[in-house]
Amino acid sequence: MPPSIQALTHIYFRHNKKFPHVWCPGCGNGIVMGALLRAITRLELEKDEVVLASGIGCSGRMPTYLDFNTLHTTHGRALTFATGIKLANPALNVVAIMGDGDATAIGGNHLIHAARRNLNLTAIIINNSIYGMTGGQYSPTTPFGSTTTTSVYGHIEHAFSIAELAVTAGASFVARSTVYHAALADQLIEQAMVKPGFAVVEIISNCHVQYGRRNQIGNAIDMLNLFKEQAVTVKKAATMDSEELREKITIGVLADRDLPISTNEYKRIREQARADQGKKSI
Ligand code: SF4
Repeated sequence: MPPSIQALTHIYFRHNKKFPHVWCPGCGNGIVMGALLRAITRLELEKDEVVLASGIGCSGRMPTYLDFNTLHTTHGRALTFATGIKLANPALNVVAIMGDGDATAIGGNHLIHAARRNLNLTAIIINNSIYGMTGGQYSPTTPFGSTTTTSVYGHIEHAFSIAELAVTAGASFVARSTVYHAALADQLIEQAMVKPGFAVVEIISNCHVQYGRRNQIGNAIDMLNLFKEQAVTVKKAATMDSEELREKITIGVLADRDLPISTNEYKRIREQARADQGKKSI
């Protein structure tokens, strides 16, 4: 039987240093953290084999609470730090944890190019459609027409679809879940962490404090129930047209493919160049 979440908190939390946490009661970040711990436990990874890197925002606090090798970096730069760590020590399991604003606005270029390069990393992107920590400003995933502190008359821009962006940019593995589908989330994180290449797991989450409240969706439970209603599996989505899919959340594995990984290709080219150099000197 898998260990309970209570047992996992005793194993992995930095009890004496970083608590109480800063998250609002009912925030989806805690569900994602539980999913990550279940995935790591099932993979039987030692704490020293795992590195968690985050940027800024509510989700960015996650690595500070957990007893792995951790970095809480600058806004939008979780992937750049994660890339350096992976290049320095390819044996480590490196996971970048980001929010929607962190990953797709400030860090948008890094996300696109990490996917294009197909770096051997895992990215968990917690998408709650808003900048929660800084006061509820709209982000690149805020839906059109939504009310935020920077769109009080309704948002006039259209939202990114993070998972589809990662597929198009070239990631090896791309999947999506919601915090309502917590068991699916940890399965997808586990798959992502063992997949060679860039693996993205987008998890739709609730910021009921900054988003749900302002958009008359309700509290955390109301938001989770909404995700339950909106979710359709990849298989079901394939039978629906774009109008039917409007306001739906497609969950499951969107891409799982074997593509060249830039870090492996770099190693191959270095070896080739060394061999050629050796021939010349003869
Ligand atoms: S502001 Fe939103 S995202 Fe941040 S901790 Fe509170 S509910 Fe979670």
